[in-house]
Amino acid sequence: MSEYQQLLRSDIRAMDPYTPILPFEILSRQLNRDPADIIKLDANENPYGPAPKSRQALAELTFTHIYPDPETRLLRAALEDFTGVPADRLLTGAGADELIDLVLRALLSPGDVVLNCPPSFGMYPFSTAVNMGKVVSIPRRPDFRLDIAGIAATIQEHPAAKVLFVCSPNNPDGSLIADADLERLLALPLVVVLDEAYVEFVSGLRVENDYRPASRIHWTQEFDNLVVLRTFSKWAGLAGLRVGYGAFPTWLLPHLWKIKQPYNVNVAAEKAARAALADRPWLQDKLERLIAARHNLQQELATIAYLEPFPSQANFVLCRVTGRDALALKNRLAAEGILVRYFAKPGLENCLRISTGRPEDNDRLLAVLKQLEKSDEA
Ligand SMILES: *Cc1c(COP(=O)(O)O)cnc(C)c1O
Repeated sequence: MSEYQQLLRSDIRAMDPYTPILPFEILSRQLNRDPADIIKLDANENPYGPAPKSRQALAELTFTHIYPDPETRLLRAALEDFTGVPADRLLTGAGADELIDLVLRALLSPGDVVLNCPPSFGMYPFSTAVNMGKVVSIPRRPDFRLDIAGIAATIQEHPAAKVLFVCSPNNPDGSLIADADLERLLALPLVVVLDEAYVEFVSGLRVENDYRPASRIHWTQEFDNLVVLRTFSKWAGLAGLRVGYGAFPTWLLPHLWKIKQPYNVNVAAEKAARAALADRPWLQDKLERLIAARHNLQQELATIAYLEPFPSQANFVLCRVTGRDALALKNRLAAEGILVRYFAKPGLENCLRISTGRPEDNDRLLAVLKQLEKSDEA
C-alpha cells in the first residue's frame, strides 16, 4: 500500500470497484465459441448493427488527424431536423452516459441530494457518487410504476434535492411514464432528467411517414426544469462509438458548454451518427423488425412455465424466474452461447433481462428455454 494513497479523495477510496463487463473477444474465448456463434442478448445492443451509410462513412473517414468540431454543428443541425428541437438547445456527448455525468457536475455540490427510482439504470447512482452527491431512493412499485406520491413526499423531506432521474421506457423492465405522471414530476422544484435511450422502440405511437418516435424531447421547450437524453447506441447500432445527445433548458445549457471536454464526440462517432440520420428508412425497417420480435418474444416467454415476463416497450424483456435459480439459468444459456443479463438487486430478485435479437436469435433462445422446461417435467 503506497503512502500516497492518502492523497485520494476519501469517498473514492471507500467506493466499491465497478463490476467489469467482459469484452466480446474474451467472452468468445472463454465460451470457446466463435464471436459469430454467440447470441448477445445481455446489453440491449442492436443485433442488425449500424446502418449501411454509417458503415460507409466510417470506411471513408479521412480527417482522423484533425480534432473534431467541439460544437458538433453539423450533427446538431441534423438532430434539429430529426427531433424538431432547435439545435441551440441540443448538446451531444460521448454517449448519453457522459451527459448524465455532465448534468450532475454542473448541478451538484458535495452532499447534494439526487432522487433515484430503482430498479432503473445503474449510471444514475454511479455518476451521483462520483460527483459527491447523495442518492435518495424511492423504489418503484412491484409492477415498476413510479411512486409519484412517494417522490413528492421525499422532496418534502429533502427540499434541497436537485435532480430526479426517470427513464422511459425504463431499463430494465421497459415500462413507460404516462404524460400525467411526468407532468406531476415536472411541477416539483428540481431538475427532472428523462432518459429516453429506448424511446425509438415504443410501438403504436408513431405518426405515419414520420420517423420521430414517441419522445418527450420537445417538452424541453415548455418546461424549464426538464432535460431529455437520447442516444445512438440502441436504435442506431452505434453503442461502440459512444454518441448521445440531449435537450436542455436554456438556463443550464451555457454552463454545460463551459464545463464539457472540448472534443468529447470524436470524428468517427460524429460522422457515423450523421450518416445514421441520413439512413432512417433502413433503420426504421430494422426497428420495426425488433419491435415485432419483442412482441413475439414476450408472448413466447409467457408460455414457459418458469418465466414471468413483464410488458416492455423497449428492445428487451425482463423476466422473473420462478421455481428455479435465475443465475443458474443464465449460466446454462451462456454454455449454449446465449448471453442474457442477470440481476440480484432489490425489486429484481431472481430476474433475467433478455434483449431482443433477430427472429433466428430469439428462436435459438426459446428452443433452449423450452428444452429445459421439458427436462423439468421428465
Ligand atoms: C444504454 C443506456 C444509456 C446509455 O447510452 P449511451 O449513449 O451508450 O451512453 C442511457 N440510459 C439507459 C437507460 C440505457 O440503458
